[in-house]
Amino acid sequence: MPTDCNHCALCCRYVNVPPFTYRDGDAPPEPLRREIETFEQSRRLANVFDTCIWLDPDTLRCRHYEDRPRACRNFELDGATCRDMRRIAKMDETPRH
Ligand code: SF4
Ligand code: SF4
Repeated sequence: MPTDCNHCALCCRYVNVPPFTYRDGDAPPEPLRREIETFEQSRRLANVFDTCIWLDPDTLRCRHYEDRPRACRNFELDGATCRDMRRIAKMDETPRH
């Protein structure tokens, strides 16, 4: 079972933008909100789908970890969805360092 997220980031790969709800305080600080809005406008034009724009492709870590959405804070390491994603992606059961 995974005990940390090192070299995984699967749950950051299919959302395109940080999944804020923009309700009950779940929203990014203003400069980061503008970054998201700018991307969404360009995506509408280019029809681009990729990993979350906050995922650092080199470190596979969130670039704005302290400001990440509630859904990301609540996503459970080694929870059912985490395990399903890793199983489907055929990732090792043990974390890689
Ligand atoms: S899928 Fe699981 S192990 Fe991978 S980054 Fe997300 S929470 Fe971490
Ligand atoms: S943790 Fe960061 S990089 Fe991953 S989906 Fe959430 S906002 Fe995006």
